[in-house]
Amino acid sequence: MKLQKARNLLSRLKADALLITSFKNRYYLSGFSGSAGYLLITADRAVLITDGRYTVQAKKEAENFELIDGAETDYSLAMPILKNARSVIFEDDELTVSSWNRLKKTYPDTEFIPGAGDINNLRRAKTQDELKKIKAALSIADATFSHIARFIKRGMTENEVAAEIEHFMRKNGAAKTSFDTICASGAMSALPHHQASGKPLCEGDFLVMDYGCVFEGYCSDITRTVVIGKASSRHREIYETVLKTQLAAEKILRAGLSARDADKAARDIIENAGFGKNFSHSLGHGVGIEIHELPNLSPKSPLTLSHGDVVTIEPGIYIEGFGGVRIEDMAYISENGAEILTSSPKELLEL
Ligand code: ZN
Ligand code: ZN
Repeated sequence: MKLQKARNLLSRLKADALLITSFKNRYYLSGFSGSAGYLLITADRAVLITDGRYTVQAKKEAENFELIDGAETDYSLAMPILKNARSVIFEDDELTVSSWNRLKKTYPDTEFIPGAGDINNLRRAKTQDELKKIKAALSIADATFSHIARFIKRGMTENEVAAEIEHFMRKNGAAKTSFDTICASGAMSALPHHQASGKPLCEGDFLVMDYGCVFEGYCSDITRTVVIGKASSRHREIYETVLKTQLAAEKILRAGLSARDADKAARDIIENAGFGKNFSHSLGHGVGIEIHELPNLSPKSPLTLSHGDVVTIEPGIYIEGFGGVRIEDMAYISENGAEILTSSPKELLEL
């Protein structure tokens, strides 16, 4: 079915072949999880070219693909497939300049068409099997939150909390983290992408934990924010505004809604509460094989949500010098709305 999607793209763009060089699309289209190699897809052939380190694995994982075993850097092993191709779609967001130069040297007369946007778009509508893997990755992240909420003690460092999150996910079946774990406390929590440091957790700190894992090739992504010690009225005002926004956004998301309108609906609530300047990123992003994929729920996105999208919903408010709050769930989009996949509690925890 995925191969068929790729072939439909070929005929839509009237090209003779698709050249896939990135991990994300190589894995998506073929099932091959090795770290080297490339795919060639034409109307009647599907070929995986990879080297001897991966032969056994490739035969098993990419069963719908012919295998060409070899190592080169000039794409010459693709000659039998590409010699008659006049036009080839390639991933212009992935190919390095040096690879591009080698490719052009080997195939000087072929027209190469940039197709990253169209190719990445193939991964948007998740199958039930993909959704199952995403849910499994997310259930590890949810279990990690209930563990970490009991584990956190005042005086621990951000690094200790981050290490425990990562250790717990691995012990519970994760292959790896899906991105560098964020544990940001106190004033650092006002930086949306502060990672983790030796700073100890202090009374009155917001602690933003944004993390996720990879399970069978698919990512999860969750953010929860807690307060160390007792929450003040300022903590509560900021937290309740983010939560209200997050819940409202979850209610309106559905197939057919433009990504821009989704972002705007959330942004309006935060603006009306007087925190417009403090929501400094977009509402969410797609998640799948990659932690950030299409569609982006941002003010500039040209996309419309469609059936099968898996996206995050993660508004935030960040006050320089004081701290920040972000709450992030993942959702599966259909015509009926957004099925929320994350189950960790969202009431403000005082730890
Ligand atoms: Zn996140
Ligand atoms: Zn995210």
